[in-house]
Amino acid sequence: MECTAESVAEALRAVAAVVVEHRDELNRLDRAIGDGDHGENMARGFTALVSKLDDHVPSSPGGVLKLVATTLISTVGGAAGPLYGTAFLRAATSVGDVASLDGAVVAAALRAALDGVVARGKAELGDKTMVDALTPAVAMAESVAVGGGVAEVLSAAADAAELGADSTVPLVARKGRASYLGERSAGHLDPGARSTSLLLRTFAGRAR
Ligand code: ADP
Ligand code: MG
Repeated sequence: MECTAESVAEALRAVAAVVVEHRDELNRLDRAIGDGDHGENMARGFTALVSKLDDHVPSSPGGVLKLVATTLISTVGGAAGPLYGTAFLRAATSVGDVASLDGAVVAAALRAALDGVVARGKAELGDKTMVDALTPAVAMAESVAVGGGVAEVLSAAADAAELGADSTVPLVARKGRASYLGERSAGHLDPGARSTSLLLRTFAGRAR
């Protein structure tokens, strides 16, 4: 199957369903070390995205990713809205106007997304943020992209993101709201790292 605008849109509908399904879990994780709204924020953003996609699916995968960015920026709020918005915007720019994605394009888009998150949020690896899930995901995606298709790239990225998210548990937060807790932030999974890993796992599950 080709990775066209239509299939990217379908994958995003699946992501929206998964985010809504995990809304309570993400809220609960954020309640432990933040203000408890991460699930709410993400569910609001992706639900808004689905209604925009119902109206109109842009003609290229890059156009779809750009719609994700503008929608998340205007609806998610909090720290995660601008960060995910920047991630999808950079991914859209990286993809450009190609009609269909391949493994190398997806890996490059993930790299661009990570660079955008870091440029915007200034978090480093180990600061207990979504960067801890996305950084290993990009590294794995790039190593698999040499000869690998979209499904392989995304499933390698999702595996690495899951481990990366789990690695946030013992960490002390140095960025975002959780950093206000200092040492007390240790012992909890970072909600943004968890949502990043959910997104990548869902994209991987839709790719062929
Ligand atoms: P808020 O913290 O404003 O309530 P959310 O709860 O929606 O926003 O998102 C919190 C998540 O955002 C955190 O779990 C973390 O992964 C991520 N985050 C916060 N600040 C940063 C940052 N500077 N860089 C990267 N990710 C960050
Ligand atoms: Mg929050």
